[in-house]
Amino acid sequence: MNNSTETPVTIIGLGLMGRALAGAFLKAGHPTTVWNRTSSKADRLVAEGARLAPTVGDALEAGSLTIICVTDYPALYELFGANDVELGGRLLINLTSGSSAQAREAARWAEQRGARYLDGAIMAIPSAVGTADAAILHSGPRADFETHESTLGALGTVSYLGADHGLASLYDVAGLAMMWSVLNAWLQGTAMLRTAGVDAATYAPFAQQIATGVAAWLPGYAEQIDHGSFPAEVSALETDARAMEHLIEESTAVGVNAELPKLLKTMADRAIAAGHGGEQYPVLIEEFGKLRND
Ligand code: NAP
Repeated sequence: MNNSTETPVTIIGLGLMGRALAGAFLKAGHPTTVWNRTSSKADRLVAEGARLAPTVGDALEAGSLTIICVTDYPALYELFGANDVELGGRLLINLTSGSSAQAREAARWAEQRGARYLDGAIMAIPSAVGTADAAILHSGPRADFETHESTLGALGTVSYLGADHGLASLYDVAGLAMMWSVLNAWLQGTAMLRTAGVDAATYAPFAQQIATGVAAWLPGYAEQIDHGSFPAEVSALETDARAMEHLIEESTAVGVNAELPKLLKTMADRAIAAGHGGEQYPVLIEEFGKLRND
């Protein structure tokens, strides 16, 4: 493992996130070289000790590893297409957001040019980068991650997910699905309680208690999914579906949006129609696993 703060790093792309990444490496003591299409965005970093490379090629030469953080994957190809750069032997770590298919395609693109490639995803806002709150996910060859794990640790809490380059992107969107689902459920309850004069701050601790309690069910429910067996140990799906109907009725009666409860009920009803009413809630994985375009 390369664990010296002397390890030189290169950052390509100095938007809000790229500047935060470069700043965290500088703070940790790494010789940091930067490049950005609009070079003025490097001014503050240069004042803090970064070196501004005149070309992408110079930037790549300077670092043992190169982190790329630009708007999207088309920007990555445009950037390297517009700059005739030799990638052979370089390690590229692409923290640009995108899909799993884009990550796998970029891995093939890098491999064809003789580069080593890790894909990654940043689950943090720029101000959290450099703290433990910033989760930075990586996928691709394990050996390349392990060689640079300590250096990457300057950015936050880094993790390795597996050899499939698409995994970081998949975990990224899975995390977002979790985040938005919890927030939307909380907003649904908040909207209902506000009709009775209960403000959001009063309801929030109760909502937090429920969310924490439900989160504790996940490992046991995951076992049911992985074994493909869903005995109703706590409650049956048809019991949950009746409570969903109650949620729809209450939302409608107090005049708040019932779209989300109706969606939940629609999915449960389909599983019940398929004969799963007597099984436990995670049997719905079969509904989530189906492609539906309606
Ligand atoms: P940003 O502030 O809009 O910066 C975009 C960067 O991409 C700039 O450096 C820009 O260069 C560069 N760029 C765009 N098109 C280019 C092209 N054709 N050729 C060369 N460079 C190009 O965006 P950001 O917030 O830093 O986000 C960067 C990535 O991090 C995105 O994929 C984003 O989803 C991800 N991310 C961001 C956050 C966040 O909170 N900001 C959180 C997680 C993940 P110029 O300066 O020359 O325009």
